[in-house]
Amino acid sequence: MPKLLPRVRNINSDHHSSIVMTTIANHNTADQQTQGSLQPVSVLKGVGSQLAERLAKLGLLTLQDLLFHLPHRYVDKTRISPIGSLNAFNTVLIEGEICGADVIYGRRRSLLCRVQDQSGSICLRFYHFSGAQKQALVNGTMIRCFGEVRPGASGLEIYHPEYQLLSGDQPQALEQTLTPTYFTTEGISQPRLRGLIAQAFTRLGDKALPDLLPQSEHTSLYERLQFLHFPPKEADIEALLAGEHPYQLGLITEELMAYQLSLLRLRLQRQRQQSFALPVENASKQPFIESLPFTLTRAQQRVSEEISHDLAQSTPMMRLLQGDVGAGKTLVAALAALQAVAADRQVALMAPTDILVEQHRNRFCHWFEPLGIGIAWLSGKQKGAERRQQLSAIAEGSAQVVIGTHALFQNNVSFDRLALVIIDEQHRFGVHQRLSLRNKGTLAIPHQLIMTATPIPRTLAMSAYADLDYSVIDELPAGRIPIETVIIGRQRRPKVIERIYHACKQGRQAYWVCTLIEQSETLSAEAAEDTAQQLQEQLPDLAIGLVHGRLKPSEKESIMAAFVAGDIQLLVATTVIEVGVDVANASLMVIENPERLGLAQLHQLRGRVGRGTVASHCVLLYGDNLSQQGRRRLNAMRETNDGFRIAEIDLELRGPGEVLGTRQTGEVSLKVADLQRDLHLMPSVQQQAKALLMDSPPLAEQLIQRWVGRDERFAQV
Ligand code: ADP
Ligand code: MG
Repeated sequence: MPKLLPRVRNINSDHHSSIVMTTIANHNTADQQTQGSLQPVSVLKGVGSQLAERLAKLGLLTLQDLLFHLPHRYVDKTRISPIGSLNAFNTVLIEGEICGADVIYGRRRSLLCRVQDQSGSICLRFYHFSGAQKQALVNGTMIRCFGEVRPGASGLEIYHPEYQLLSGDQPQALEQTLTPTYFTTEGISQPRLRGLIAQAFTRLGDKALPDLLPQSEHTSLYERLQFLHFPPKEADIEALLAGEHPYQLGLITEELMAYQLSLLRLRLQRQRQQSFALPVENASKQPFIESLPFTLTRAQQRVSEEISHDLAQSTPMMRLLQGDVGAGKTLVAALAALQAVAADRQVALMAPTDILVEQHRNRFCHWFEPLGIGIAWLSGKQKGAERRQQLSAIAEGSAQVVIGTHALFQNNVSFDRLALVIIDEQHRFGVHQRLSLRNKGTLAIPHQLIMTATPIPRTLAMSAYADLDYSVIDELPAGRIPIETVIIGRQRRPKVIERIYHACKQGRQAYWVCTLIEQSETLSAEAAEDTAQQLQEQLPDLAIGLVHGRLKPSEKESIMAAFVAGDIQLLVATTVIEVGVDVANASLMVIENPERLGLAQLHQLRGRVGRGTVASHCVLLYGDNLSQQGRRRLNAMRETNDGFRIAEIDLELRGPGEVLGTRQTGEVSLKVADLQRDLHLMPSVQQQAKALLMDSPPLAEQLIQRWVGRDERFAQV
């Protein structure tokens, strides 16, 4: 799956660098800043303002940051392997004599260079090479290369190895430590970063980094960090690659602890804040529920009660509501809104796209206007008089429910008596937006309900969001017929088009989703336009609509309205329809090139159908070069409709991921831990964190400062 949760790391954006500096200043002695670990990176040799800026992009502002910027991978260049001993998929350093370098004209032109030592020979293969490069590979020259061995046309081969021609008689020295690889950014090479880190170690010395937690190892933090940056050649590389070296585990635990501490502290802070106690009341909820054409699922009832109870408290609610696509989250939101409205307060409902805002607005108007509730809406593209009118309805309070995109955050939006903020499809929002909406309430802090269809396993959610309460709608409304998914190759497109025709002729509706590799709205829009035109030529008597991100809001709106009304039979769309759009009569969806999307996104898209009472189908129309992995991923879509299961499968298929690399940590950027991989450590970490916060607040503070001090979520509260 793509990121389970968005990763937000804008610690260098201007507006909080000031916060960063004050936080540091408040909690650390001047000494640490002039001599200690909190000296800026600019004290290092060779770090000018440009390099400092680039380092800041990586979150590396101080010497301490550099030391805690641990490698995510290691390679072993400390020993030379005999060529005769190599196996496929070994990553190795070899040394030998060149015996032939020829350009081969196969399917793709390549340069093949044979290298031999006493034990055997192997070919190096280059698809990109220059004439000069070929010239230099003279027979008899000694060459040292590093790369991954793969099975190739000539037997074992190394594609595009790093290499070095060895001239003269002096033997070239080998690396003395394992070679680390770091996350880096444009303009900072690996050796450069390595050099800076080595410099930071030298400059700081052993005393600079005290251990904060008791350690079982008899080494200092400084030594352990040094080991992890420059592991001696006899270090256990397997353990290091798996993130399981004892030194790594110690740091991981410490970081997870700091992270939990910061979340617990946030929760405590929240519990001291004032919100609006909105009394539980059923006088308006009951008739509303009875007016619906269906009954609530048990899960909807349960979470509604949880929310209702929270809203009645005078401390602000912070609740994450999870439910698979189609689980009926909107209705739960509506019930929460009613409680606020009944207490004569305002509600803001925020959605990530204009289309969704549109849909929510239609639904809420339909549900609430008969009850005499005023509804306003804001979208980014609203202009002039219309916008002013909405703004004044919000400010003077005649609008009780306000629906909008992030436009709700803008400074000129002021609420009269906002008491509840509902955020739909939270995975699209950053924390910063979440927090700024919170400030819209005047005297007290509004309650917040955050809804998401992105499946996050419960344990992970409880760790990543330990500051939030958590509810799940784990049941779909009755009568839903599972969506049947088929996987079809591009060459059978005409058959698929025929199928659309028949479905539409039977009074049903269909989506055709175009995907592009580039995240470009313009290109996606063009691709969708072409497809729509083609389909219209092939299906002249169908009403075909087109919707993409480049349309004006009013255009999008009228097309969506026509689709909802059934006037459009086939809707060609880009992935803008991804989240939340709901048309019960649409029972067929074709997704072109589904292999370009993550499983979670496919699942979201597919959730647009299967909302009515007829059997729905999803056709995954893949392109020409479907990889094995791609095929397995699509098969997973066929095998299950369960979003949580799909999330797990995606994880399995992606494999263990890059060591210390897949940091899907949601809204903080972890340095060494990986919430996914290290999840098993959480129960004990959580317990220890609670005890530590009670027993030793100053130590907790130091830990938070060291590991998460500058994260925006914590810096701003
Ligand atoms: P999501 O959780 O994906 O946001 P929605 O709130 O859009 O789902 O609901 C999907 C559809 O299910 C809507 O048409 C909604 O009216 C309908 N629905 C919601 N609750 C129920 C229910 N208890 N029984 C039947 N249909 C329901
Ligand atoms: Mg929804």
